[in-house]
Amino acid sequence: MDASAVSPWLWVRIALVGFVLAWMIGPSALRGAVPILVVFLVALGLEVHFLVSALRHGGPRRRPDRRPQEVDLERYGFEADEPGEDGHEEYAPSPSLVPVRRFVLGLALMVALLGAIWFVQSRTGWDALSGETKVSAVARFSAEASRIAEKPVSIRCDEARDYVGAVQHTDGVATVGGDLGILTPEICHDLYRLAFKRETTGSRTGRAVAVLAHEAWHLRGTSDEGTTECYALQSGVELGTRLGLSEDTARQLMRQQLIENQLRGASTLEYRVPSECRDGGRLDLGPGSTRFP
Ligand SMILES: [Zn+2]
Repeated sequence: MDASAVSPWLWVRIALVGFVLAWMIGPSALRGAVPILVVFLVALGLEVHFLVSALRHGGPRRRPDRRPQEVDLERYGFEADEPGEDGHEEYAPSPSLVPVRRFVLGLALMVALLGAIWFVQSRTGWDALSGETKVSAVARFSAEASRIAEKPVSIRCDEARDYVGAVQHTDGVATVGGDLGILTPEICHDLYRLAFKRETTGSRTGRAVAVLAHEAWHLRGTSDEGTTECYALQSGVELGTRLGLSEDTARQLMRQQLIENQLRGASTLEYRVPSECRDGGRLDLGPGSTRFP
């Protein structure tokens, strides 16, 4: 089968399945940036487009090629017996039904993928935790944020896309100098796994610790993003240790976050830590120490 014989339907479905998998198991930034319903609406639109154009231009087609496929010739070296040639007529769908069947198949695939997302999210992640567990986890996050903010502050865990007057990030929201920070359920779940289950997920754990510290520094009154992140990565060492990491691991994860920040380039210039964010620099919170962060 050469590439041109692969129908656009197949490519759309492969892309859809691939994207949904990436969305489910990939970085939380992807989930934050792309609402999954939009993806399904785009896929649905493409399916409808294919259906309509196939029905409009398809017309009656020639009968399917019944000669042996290349693969059969390669495998058997001769023409395999063809069923249906000895008087029995095989069931062959009317050509105009083919696009409709493909469309129905596409819809079924979308329903199956949405069901899989619902199933996975209802049994894993922050939403699957009991109300009681969520309350005690949020209380713990609030206590840790209050230590960094040096005043009582509250942390909440939900999607807060339209929190007016706050600094919006992909993973969290806070008002500068305020008393409420909101983290995404993904960040909260990573923090919960660390603090309550002693489970770490590498750089994702580091990111979650850094986000909590970042929002706490906003609540403390720091508004500049680069400065806030620089302070957050330094506070993140102690925060990570208090939540259950070894000091070495916490330090390593915060250094990794710092390197990733510096590599991120001009697209996120506002969030880039300033050059003073270094050992002995103006933003070094522990000038007496030679370790950074
Ligand atoms: Zn910020």
